Amino acid sequence: MPFDDRRRTVTTRVGAVAVGSAAPIVVQSMTNTDTADAVATADQVVALAGAGSQLVRVTVNNEDAAQAVPEIAQRVRDGGVDVPIVGDFHYNGHLLLAKYPECARQLAKYRINPGNVGSKRRDENFRTIVQIAVDNGKPVRIGVNWGSLDQDLLTDMMDDNARRTEPLDAKDVYIEAMLASALRSAELAEQVGLRHDQIIISAKVSGVQDLVEVYRRLGARCDYPLHLGLTEAGMGMKGIVASTAGLSILLAEGIGDTIRVSLTPKPNGDRTEEVIVAQQILQSLGLRSFTPQVTACPGCGRTTSTFFQHMAEDIQTYIREQMPVWREQRPGVEELKVAVMGCVVNGPGESKHANLGISLPGTFEEPKAPVYVDGKLLTTLRGETIVRDFLRILEEYVATHYVATTVSA
Ligand code: SF4
Repeated sequence: MPFDDRRRTVTTRVGAVAVGSAAPIVVQSMTNTDTADAVATADQVVALAGAGSQLVRVTVNNEDAAQAVPEIAQRVRDGGVDVPIVGDFHYNGHLLLAKYPECARQLAKYRINPGNVGSKRRDENFRTIVQIAVDNGKPVRIGVNWGSLDQDLLTDMMDDNARRTEPLDAKDVYIEAMLASALRSAELAEQVGLRHDQIIISAKVSGVQDLVEVYRRLGARCDYPLHLGLTEAGMGMKGIVASTAGLSILLAEGIGDTIRVSLTPKPNGDRTEEVIVAQQILQSLGLRSFTPQVTACPGCGRTTSTFFQHMAEDIQTYIREQMPVWREQRPGVEELKVAVMGCVVNGPGESKHANLGISLPGTFEEPKAPVYVDGKLLTTLRGETIVRDFLRILEEYVATHYVATTVSA
């Protein structure tokens, strides 16, 4: 999508990363290590950044965590990674940021949940965090959550609604309370001294339809950059599908400037999966390119062997393994499209639409595999070395079409 079609926002700088409609949509993620364990957390920040996360958030939930932040930041930098680290604060952020100024300095942004800054001294605590952000020149994300909405505000709005001659649906009031919490907090932050372009807003819920409704309304009422995501997408396939469904609707409407896919990992699962899913959502929508795309047909009764499935996987793996080098040396390679098709029905046609395509023989078809390069038949492969031969053609294509930049010694 050309940026002209994005909802217009101001640009917020988080470290060196620009967030807003003038910049590409930013992928971000969050660690799930104990932040007090600086080594494990720094390792995961580096891994998430390596997978493509442009911002990485860590929870700062207690004094040990706040004390660990400077060491985490140092270890990440020592690892040659300059990803901005964002601090997630609930309940005691005003105390931790005040007591640990080096933590406040090292973080690139503070996330504040207006529903979790205390009850009696809510505004005072909120102001304290914002004042520290102002003093350190840091932006904040005002992150409202369905599950931790400011209960006093909600009660007031529910009471007001009950007095109306035609009361709104309770869910409608809930959504309006989320928006009021976010926008009033942003107004308060600006009164304290934060610039208008130092505020990002999120209003997360766990249902796809509610997410779309909340962000459509929020997007229409302000020009702050918006952080999109379901608050708890869930595990595995459910989490991926729910996140994709919700985020895609909004992104296709031009709403959203940074995204996080909040997947629940399996025990000891790979945290970087949420980064890959976020990238894949953006690339599938044609909004950004991160890695060459391999299109493989789903297979059917015409392909009774699993050969083409293995081949598609081998190519995907090969590309993934090459990407760290290609990303540095082969600019533009992330736009590459490769098609691996299972038989003659759609094989040649689909292969011609890709930069590189191979149409494998289906069951009972002649054992040969035509290879197409930019729509033209290049050669026909046969025998046991089809995969190896195709990877060689792929490597040659990359070397000749994506001009190598100078690599310093
Ligand atoms: S390309 Fe051939 S093998 Fe693949 S789904 Fe279509 S008909 Fe089936």
